[in-house]
Amino acid sequence: MMYVPKTGSFEGMKSMNRSTILNIIRLEGSISRAEIAKRTKLTPPTVGTLVQELLEEKLIVEERGVGKIQGGRKPLMLSVNSTAFYAVGIYAAAEVIRTVMATLDGTIIAEKEIRMKSPPPMDMFLESLASSVYEVLKVNSTPLDSVIGIGVGMHGLVDSEKGIAIFSPHLNLENIPLKRYLEDEFSVPVLVENDVRTLTLAESWFGKGKGVSHFLCVSIGLGIGSGIVIDNKLYHGPAHSAGEIGHTIVDVNGPRCHCGNYGCLEAYASEFAIMEQVQKRLRLGKRSVLQEWVEENGDLTMDMIYEASKRKDPLTLEVIEDAGRYLGIAIGNVVNMLTPSKVVLEGKLFRTGEPLLSPLEEMMRKCSVRSVQDTTELAVSSLGKKGMVTGAFTLVINQLFDTGKFLKING
Ligand SMILES: [Zn+2]
Repeated sequence: MMYVPKTGSFEGMKSMNRSTILNIIRLEGSISRAEIAKRTKLTPPTVGTLVQELLEEKLIVEERGVGKIQGGRKPLMLSVNSTAFYAVGIYAAAEVIRTVMATLDGTIIAEKEIRMKSPPPMDMFLESLASSVYEVLKVNSTPLDSVIGIGVGMHGLVDSEKGIAIFSPHLNLENIPLKRYLEDEFSVPVLVENDVRTLTLAESWFGKGKGVSHFLCVSIGLGIGSGIVIDNKLYHGPAHSAGEIGHTIVDVNGPRCHCGNYGCLEAYASEFAIMEQVQKRLRLGKRSVLQEWVEENGDLTMDMIYEASKRKDPLTLEVIEDAGRYLGIAIGNVVNMLTPSKVVLEGKLFRTGEPLLSPLEEMMRKCSVRSVQDTTELAVSSLGKKGMVTGAFTLVINQLFDTGKFLKING
């Protein structure tokens, strides 16, 4: 089971102090025992005991510092032993399984990508996940006992407490026992989370959400999802489905969404919706550079749309600007409710830049109340396609620094 500090108990206090010390060492890069005691207001003997424990577990290392001289001797400086242990991250979608191994400071040292032509059945899907982990272990002949955990970022509805993918629409599978299967296979703790939430965690640790206590991360692909960080914590909601911004309704008279409702954001601004809107206009005989490309290459692709937008094709810009406006309305509504100080935007679609972002920002400001109108910052993610898999291994690192303890397998 994950280690939960018992509030008020001696063990609980000790664990909290351990994670506080471990986090200060991580954030400072290098720090002395005396400085830790000063910052945490813990007594020097308490700091000494906990640091000794962390040293014995090889989570931290010490070396004679080059800094200030104290009483003629340079202090012993402590730092995180980043390369002694590894975290594995898996991003599991229907068309691709991306797996990486990273050091405790988030440096990726091995990666493997498996492309799938058609959604596999459950047993084949699980076997592919396992084989991708074996592949990254092979790269540096990493022994399994130096892997402190595996994190999985899975699309669809995920129960992160049980480690189950409740429903995966793109694979058309239900109740995938990700945690149980991978823990049986590798005997290391496994954490499972929805992929947009892992992306949000990656933004929080390594991206545009770093140091931001309240932010929203909106991710656009074939669908639209979001992750919510409140008080530095990911918000799940009781049904594991908080953040479904794609199915907030931006026009009750709008087109039908695949969820059954009408006028959802996803029916206007997802990649799928944008392709549909472009096709509709082409069928109406509207002129566009895309007509020629489709005739030459067959099907319309998102890459063609990106290229047409770069060339300022009026039809393409019209569709993208509309998508931006609807995104702005939906985000403005969320901003009113949650008042995040930042909104991080992720997805290839944001490559289109101004034509999407400018109407988005205009509508977001217009739809939000005065108190947050000018203070909510907009930022485009820079993590790229590794965002979700980075978040997957960050699940493991986050738990380690949150509790100060190695995770244990849920017996
Ligand atoms: Zn919908």
